[in-house]
Amino acid sequence: MNVGQAHLIDGRAIAADLKRTLRDEIAVLTAEGVCPGLATVLFEDDYAAEAYQRRLSALALDLGCHYVSEALPRDAQEADALATVGKLCADPRINGILILRPLPPQISEAIVYEALDPLKDIEAVHPFNAGLLELGRPRFVPSTPASCFCCLDNYVSSSGRDLARFYEGINVVVVGRSANVGRPAVLLALARNATVMSCDEYTSARGKLHEYTERADVLIVAAGVPRLIGAEHVSDGVIAIDVGINPVKEGTRTRLVGDLDFDGVASKAEAITPVPGGVGPITQVWLLKNTVFAAQLQTGKGEIEHPAEVLGLGHDG
Ligand code: NAD
Repeated sequence: MNVGQAHLIDGRAIAADLKRTLRDEIAVLTAEGVCPGLATVLFEDDYAAEAYQRRLSALALDLGCHYVSEALPRDAQEADALATVGKLCADPRINGILILRPLPPQISEAIVYEALDPLKDIEAVHPFNAGLLELGRPRFVPSTPASCFCCLDNYVSSSGRDLARFYEGINVVVVGRSANVGRPAVLLALARNATVMSCDEYTSARGKLHEYTERADVLIVAAGVPRLIGAEHVSDGVIAIDVGINPVKEGTRTRLVGDLDFDGVASKAEAITPVPGGVGPITQVWLLKNTVFAAQLQTGKGEIEHPAEVLGLGHDG
């Protein structure tokens, strides 16, 4: 489908394909007596985290996986979080653990992440897995940047280009460098031999963001700022991936918008992801894919392709 001149990348269709494959992979594991198990750790009263937890729970149950939700009050202490993580790490029915952000300020993300069993760390936030990703041979590929590259790869293949060489030497610009989205997206682009530029709030504060974004062949935006990037920031023919999910009040309604001014960027882009319906639907399926892969790693059973291979990457384990 096209919007203006841009091709609209349909994340829901890509997620549906991934889900079909995943269902088959789960059937193989289940036949071998293994039911993959996912656990989420949620700190209460965050609207977006709770909504994501509900969607994950529904998806896990739909796929026939075991699912456990641990909820902690926002005034929980670090020791409570560590005790919860420790319990899940020791539970043989749980193969993958997701700590939902944001964590309350009294709890250090770094300390909680380090308490994860690296074999259950499906978002690659433990230093061991983050290090493998940095070295370009990931054990787990974090779900949101993986989803960005699923969108890109899918479009590139459908456009008739040679996917194996597409990223070599092109300019990939990533706006936002959080540990779970922007920074790993930079690493995935480097692993595909792109020329990569990383921008953040400090680039914007110096008024220089457009100097980088207008050089992008591929632009990935994960800043959490509604409509940060407009037509004036991009060049004709950019392929634009919008990670942002920002609730914006319009009268009495709340609408989700991305970090791109969709109409403005679509008027110049070759291809673009929408919000909703772009990166988001793939993210949750990928997280279950990582859980199933973790179950295979832990049990030695199953036949799942290493998720990194789906993205044309080398890997560990
Ligand atoms: P974060 O707040 O942890 O990080 C935001 C990053 O953007 C930081 O590096 C910051 O420096 C940068 N930034 C902030 N303002 C900027 C500006 N004006 N110019 C340039 N850079 C700026 O956020 P996050 O967890 O990385 O999430 C980013 C967005 O992606 C949010 O809207 C979030 O809801 C969304 N998200 C979507 C998915 C999905 O599956 N679609 C998954 C995770 C996060």
